[in-house]
Amino acid sequence: TRWVYSFGDGKAEGRADMKNLLGGKGANLAEMSNLGLPVPPGFTVTTDVCTYYYKHDRTYPSDLKDQVAEALATVERSIGAGFGDPENPLLVSVRSGARASMPGMMDTVLNLGLTDVTVQGLVKRSGDARFAYDSYRRFIQMYGNVVLGVEHHHFEDILENVKRDRDITLDTELTAADWQAVIEGYKQVVQHELGRPFPQDVQEQLWGAVGAVFGSWMNQRAITYRRLHDIPAEWGTAVNIQAMVFGNMGDDCATGVAFTRNPSTGENAFYGEYLVNAQGEDVVAGIRTPQHLTIAGKQANKSDLPSMEEVMPEVFKQLDAVRLRLEGHYRDMQDIEFTVQQNKLYMLQTRTGKRTAAAALKIAVDLADEGVIDHAEAIKRIDPASLDQLLHPTLDPKAQRTVIARGLPASPGAASGKLVFSADEAETQAQLGESVILCRIETSPEDIHGMHAARGILTTRGGMTSHAAVVARGMGRACVAGAGDLRVDYKAQTVSVRGVTIKAGDTVTIDGSTGEVMLGAVPTIQPELSGDFATLMGWADEIRRMKVRTNAETPLDARTARKFGAEGIGLSRTEHMFFDADRIVAVREMILAETEQGRRAALAKIAPMQRQDFVELFTIMKGLPVTIRLLDPPLHEFLPNSDAEMEEVAKAAGTDILKVRHRASQLHESNPMLGHRGCRLGISFPEIYEMQARSIFEAAVQVFKETGETVIPEIMIPLIGTPKEFDILKAVIDKVAAEVTGSSGRQIEYLVGTMIELPRACLRAGEIAETAEFFSFGTNDLTQTVFGISRDDAGSFLPDYQRGGILEHDPFVTIDVEGVGEMVKIAAERGRATRPDIKLGICGEHGGDPASVHFCETVGLDYVSCSPYRVPIARLAAAQAAL
Ligand code: ADP
Ligand code: MG
Ligand code: MG
Repeated sequence: TRWVYSFGDGKAEGRADMKNLLGGKGANLAEMSNLGLPVPPGFTVTTDVCTYYYKHDRTYPSDLKDQVAEALATVERSIGAGFGDPENPLLVSVRSGARASMPGMMDTVLNLGLTDVTVQGLVKRSGDARFAYDSYRRFIQMYGNVVLGVEHHHFEDILENVKRDRDITLDTELTAADWQAVIEGYKQVVQHELGRPFPQDVQEQLWGAVGAVFGSWMNQRAITYRRLHDIPAEWGTAVNIQAMVFGNMGDDCATGVAFTRNPSTGENAFYGEYLVNAQGEDVVAGIRTPQHLTIAGKQANKSDLPSMEEVMPEVFKQLDAVRLRLEGHYRDMQDIEFTVQQNKLYMLQTRTGKRTAAAALKIAVDLADEGVIDHAEAIKRIDPASLDQLLHPTLDPKAQRTVIARGLPASPGAASGKLVFSADEAETQAQLGESVILCRIETSPEDIHGMHAARGILTTRGGMTSHAAVVARGMGRACVAGAGDLRVDYKAQTVSVRGVTIKAGDTVTIDGSTGEVMLGAVPTIQPELSGDFATLMGWADEIRRMKVRTNAETPLDARTARKFGAEGIGLSRTEHMFFDADRIVAVREMILAETEQGRRAALAKIAPMQRQDFVELFTIMKGLPVTIRLLDPPLHEFLPNSDAEMEEVAKAAGTDILKVRHRASQLHESNPMLGHRGCRLGISFPEIYEMQARSIFEAAVQVFKETGETVIPEIMIPLIGTPKEFDILKAVIDKVAAEVTGSSGRQIEYLVGTMIELPRACLRAGEIAETAEFFSFGTNDLTQTVFGISRDDAGSFLPDYQRGGILEHDPFVTIDVEGVGEMVKIAAERGRATRPDIKLGICGEHGGDPASVHFCETVGLDYVSCSPYRVPIARLAAAQAAL
């Protein structure tokens, strides 16, 4: 078997599409080599080795050593140096590289191959002792930490001591002799902590690092990250071993990271940061303040430090050319890492750049407009769930605000919450239902769980490409990074700025679009659907087959949904209209009445209000279809609870409280979800449905008279299990329709259908469809009844089911295709067999879940219906499903 793939010198054995085998980093290093870009030579040990490693008790395939030796020899020849050669040592980096970039993995080890002996060779060969010793101390520190597990602070203490002795603040001011002193200290630390010396054998160093990369695949951070991002453990990671290039050899050297377009806004402008005379992750680590790549970037961020465009104009031009080359090749925004060694540019990484939802939209629309991708491709590139970020509130521009500090606008959106200073605390507070803002000097992969739990993230150090910024953008959390004026005191649990001190638990607001940090909770406003968002939605609308409706009963929800592009109402729950203060007493009176006469008297009081509800809905929906579900919940949900409420009802009905109390206890049920609800109410008390149908028809007539719009109401009978139930109730509705036609003189058009939410209804759908003109799958109840699980009680055991691998997803969030989905399929098939043009839709929570929307497309439903804020998500998901 082939375990090793080489790259470099304008060619490679791998390609970009070999990510599964080579990991993302390795595949793209190979691709860049093939493109002829300046990539230091190296090789990738495949993910298959990782799989082998874990299958065989953490050992390697027998032929791996030889293949590595051979690939290493190729690199030696290409560079003209020898690994471990005392005169002319080859140094390498050892880099992990999973298929999907994973922050939990082992950090890269740079400058591997340095020992007490080879460092002398490096001194001679480079003629720069300071550089050589700087590299060696970096290596001991990195290898000591990530491979040998010596804690960071040991190394930091030593460096701080040396700096204090020499009265120096910046690392760059240390001389060769200073670094030698640091190295001695570092080696002692390793000896002291591990009881053995720092390894002086380069092969031992190499295999130690390789083992650490594979070992890190199963560390807790990586496991957590995989769980949060649905990455299977079987994928494994690759290891990349690559000749070092040096950004720390002087002022004609640099290291940097860049995005080919702005990852925050999506603007088509080169965006990045770099540091002169620095190595590796210095830029992201926040040790020095990074400088901007371009003059424009420097100006936009009001930086005093010179840009790379000014400092190294020639190299910058080359880099800018690489930028265009890579974008043209990958046809997407790239996130790149580079190093400049003595004015020569080297590319060390490229990958599809993480971006905010707003940037993703802009980039997709721009690339389509530039002709680089087509509309379908643009649509595929947007994660529907990410649109949620854009539908979130932004700060009300008119609101009062007390800005106490400013940082970088690292990830847009506004968030308010209680300040916490640790990831664990963020998680604890979030579990208690608090919104929290996580404040850290800087974040690291250990903080992922807390960042996930927080509404927003605030750091006092680091740039736009710092860990906090990158992770927050990926997660869609608001983030202000590098608010340097703030002083965090972890011990005291405070953050202070110019005399203001904020304690843990105090409320703050951050605006990740402006970088502002504010005291208290600042009010927010709802976003508009415009610009690139609207453009992309338009393309989605051209492509999708399914219609998208909304679940709404209030005028506010209906208007919001229209604004977001809903094409009608798929579910209007009439009972929600019954709780309003002006009618609840009459509703209770109706429910508690002991005779039909009593009920009719109460219903007569409700009817005008109910009619007005429908008039408003029909007016807002302007002739679009509106599905109205007749009363569904168990009556006991409306029962008066307190004595005062009972008194009120008694008075309205002209009886006494004792009778009311007695009737209320009669209506009590032990299993209301399976009790006297849905069409069963209509069977027992047809006058209720009669009143509702009459209100609907009268409203339709009134709206026609007032606006000229013809409304075709779709009346939906809930919880049908047998064809008989449906027929009886449809007859009630038809009779009312005839009456209203007679009294108004206007022929009324309407449909009567049912909500399919019981397994029996799915099985008998063929007969039900003989009279039912549409089905709407009520997948919330259908999931409850297919599984026999109550949604309200599932919280206590569903997590165990997910952890135990019994259920992959929460079936109330993503439709259970195998069980509930099968029921839907059966009902759709049988319904269509009877009535080929039967209208089919879905109106459960699932209607706004992208994966479930895909399922609906495969069944060929006519529409999905979801809550107003999910309408854009469903529109996009429906388009993707149709592609
Ligand atoms: P990550 O996956 O965390 O980004 P990388 O493997 O990309 O880790 O390494 C981080 C940084 O280390 C790179 O951006 C680059 O600056 C530096 N680096 C890695 N390999 C080399 C190399 N061969 N020569 C010089 N610098 C390197
Ligand atoms: Mg890293
Ligand atoms: Mg990298």
